[in-house]
Amino acid sequence: MRQNTVKRALVAFALALPGAAIATVAAAPAAHADGCYTWKRDLYQGRSGDDVRQLQIRVAGWAARGGIVRIDGDFGPETAAAVKRFQTAYGLRSDGIAGKQTFSKLYQLQDNDCTPAHFSYREMDGGCGKGGWSGGPLSATETKANAVNTMWKLEALRRGLGDKPLYVTSGFRDESCNKQVGGASNSQHLYGNAADVTSQTRSLCEIARASRDHGFSGIYGPGSAGHDDHVHVDSRRENNRDNLTNRTSWAAPDCGVSN
Ligand SMILES: [Zn+2]
Repeated sequence: MRQNTVKRALVAFALALPGAAIATVAAAPAAHADGCYTWKRDLYQGRSGDDVRQLQIRVAGWAARGGIVRIDGDFGPETAAAVKRFQTAYGLRSDGIAGKQTFSKLYQLQDNDCTPAHFSYREMDGGCGKGGWSGGPLSATETKANAVNTMWKLEALRRGLGDKPLYVTSGFRDESCNKQVGGASNSQHLYGNAADVTSQTRSLCEIARASRDHGFSGIYGPGSAGHDDHVHVDSRRENNRDNLTNRTSWAAPDCGVSN
């Protein structure tokens, strides 16, 4: 009896939904900028400019496996393919053209401070509890910009894992913090270019394997020394300010992840 009542209430609620949904859609304002960025024209292969660069930052996490989307302001085939994957991942028409629908989704995903919805400066800047983006090899501005790029890839990874929360246990580290935690002397963490990730709903191997499809050229996870309690992801191939070669480096042997 009681269950039936609940069931009836649910049916009534479900029936009420379509109307409510329509009302919500009608009342929603047209896609527009938030405090971060507004695109003013459609973007597709052949276009170039800062608007392309802004788009590339947000779709770089949808690069082909083992590939990267260069954030260079030129809309080439890798960008088009990444836009398509982004569109597919969010149920949009997958045509590789960034127009109204794609931008609406990006506005929806982006916070006023340019971070993606599920990640924040605070969690990327927790290096030994100090905060601020200085003390690394790059300027604070450059470091923070790298952290934004990292977070957009994490947002894509999170989506790829079925929208389950991911936790960043270590993001940017200044030199002293990096030493303190025993990080590599040329660690991508120093550049705002890396994140150590854990999850309560996905295994580390699931994270490590999925990371291959989200633009990360550095992946270290289970079976790699020091990486049995988190997965490290980074964008070393895009970093021209370190002294590493711009090569992919994947090592999570317990998960079958290698390059
Ligand atoms: Zn790490």
